[in-house]
Amino acid sequence: MNDKLKNIIRVVLLIVILVLIYFSIKSQNTLLENKKISQGIFAMDTYMEIQAYGDTANEAISAAIKEIQRLDALLSTGSDESEVSVLNKNKTGRVSDDYAYLLQRSKGLWESTQGAFDITIYPVMRAWGFSDKDYRVPSDEEINNLLKNTDASKINFDEETNTVLIPENMEVDFGGIAKGYTSDKVAWILKEYKTESALINLGGNVWALGAKPDGSLWKVAIKNPYKKGEYIGVVSVKDKAVITSGGYERYFEKDGESYHHIINPENGKPAKGGLASVTIVSNDATLADGLSTALYVMGMDKAINYWKEYNQEFEAVLCDDLGMIYVTEGLEGYFSSDLEYKIVRK
Ligand code: AMP
Ligand code: MG
Repeated sequence: MNDKLKNIIRVVLLIVILVLIYFSIKSQNTLLENKKISQGIFAMDTYMEIQAYGDTANEAISAAIKEIQRLDALLSTGSDESEVSVLNKNKTGRVSDDYAYLLQRSKGLWESTQGAFDITIYPVMRAWGFSDKDYRVPSDEEINNLLKNTDASKINFDEETNTVLIPENMEVDFGGIAKGYTSDKVAWILKEYKTESALINLGGNVWALGAKPDGSLWKVAIKNPYKKGEYIGVVSVKDKAVITSGGYERYFEKDGESYHHIINPENGKPAKGGLASVTIVSNDATLADGLSTALYVMGMDKAINYWKEYNQEFEAVLCDDLGMIYVTEGLEGYFSSDLEYKIVRK
């Protein structure tokens, strides 16, 4: 056999091996795709769905659902027995690690957002009827009285004893951060069960765990705040939470005015910062949830300045009241849209 023939045989063999490797990976992915389990649950006032792939997906999802129910029971302001409600009533006591963690993160967010994120806004939310859906427009006097007792920095927390002290007339609601935290916990549980690929969707708060089973990025669509059922674009991610806040999510109308559920702690009224929706992309969903609410309150300029200061921790897609879309530069190449958008640079 001459050298030329040997070389041809070598090349052919190499090609055969590469083709075999390609098909073996492809069939493994197909196998994984076939092992998809998904389950829905109604909790925290919203429909949630977990899709997971792999041998342990079933057990992983069952454990995750239990965790969602446990956190719902702990954090719900709608139930008198929840830990949040009991603390709101008693003002002091030893708290669970979940409560302690959320309180500390919320206090941190209060500080970094200069009060735009404030878990003590709850009595004001209630005055607007957002807690029992008995909507009304409170008077300025009523709001100003309630605002005297809002300020998350005044809640005392003793790390050594896990004891909380809430000032008189102050009440806490983790509604602006709870779903993000819950999705972090769910992602953590799925990882414990060695799940490599999953999509956790807690009422639009999405945690994309790993990549898709075929190795490609998850595509998470961002709702169009102006057109129900339509989207302003898609972010392609892996191992990231994608969390959106917007006034379009929950609101009521009275005398031709629309009032939504994200309150500006400065005046106790639905925030009018010029934004229609804020999407945060981060590997910390607790942060992403808190920030989607806070940046919505801040409005475009302050939100962009905040990103410039903390861009190591998150990226954002901001849609303003005129329908213009702003995308922070870390998402360049990962955001696609048929609409016009601008990249925001540091
Ligand atoms: P999200 O949908 O994550 O933006 O959260 C909205 C929820 O957060 C509301 O339903 C309230 O429970 C709570 N909330 C409203 N305004 C604020 C605020 N300024 N800071 C913290 N939580 C808020
Ligand atoms: Mg939020």
